[in-house]
Amino acid sequence: MFKTIFFRIIYLGFYLLVIIARKFSKEEIENSKISKIFIGVNNKIVLKKCKNIPVNKVSILLPHCIQNYECPLKVTSTIDNCKECGKCKVGDILKLKRKYNVKGKIATGGTLARKFLKETQPKLVIAIACERDLVSGIYDAFPMPVYGIFNKKINGPCFNTDLSIEEIESVLEKLK
Ligand code: SF4
Repeated sequence: MFKTIFFRIIYLGFYLLVIIARKFSKEEIENSKISKIFIGVNNKIVLKKCKNIPVNKVSILLPHCIQNYECPLKVTSTIDNCKECGKCKVGDILKLKRKYNVKGKIATGGTLARKFLKETQPKLVIAIACERDLVSGIYDAFPMPVYGIFNKKINGPCFNTDLSIEEIESVLEKLK
């Protein structure tokens, strides 16, 4: 109980810092630095807390912009609809899903993400998102442990983004 309150205060402090940085920083990079520190601290806390959980109790949450923009398949209803053509990382997530027996979902918004987490009841969430969504998502989900990974905006924001499969797999490997 005391620990939860302590960490809640830490998270609140970081969250406020991120909001202040967004408001006053002219340099986007400054905002990024604080967000990165927050995510880094959070990830250490989460891994320590979750080191003994079964790997099949992990859920992976993805942003919709990870899907190739031209792909006509409805992977938002289930990523199992992906044909693994290699044009985006959804196919690689599907492979991880089979290899580690984890759950995976593309969340098109906060409400759907919450619904998915309520249904799957994970012990650990690995969330991939842009900085803004990741910071607010981790803060809102507390005390649920959410390991955060930034997506890569290789084509600009919200369009054909990328992610590191190695980073996700390294988290799953730590639980084995
Ligand atoms: S990997 Fe899957 S989701 Fe991505 S473009 Fe190919 S079929 Fe579509």
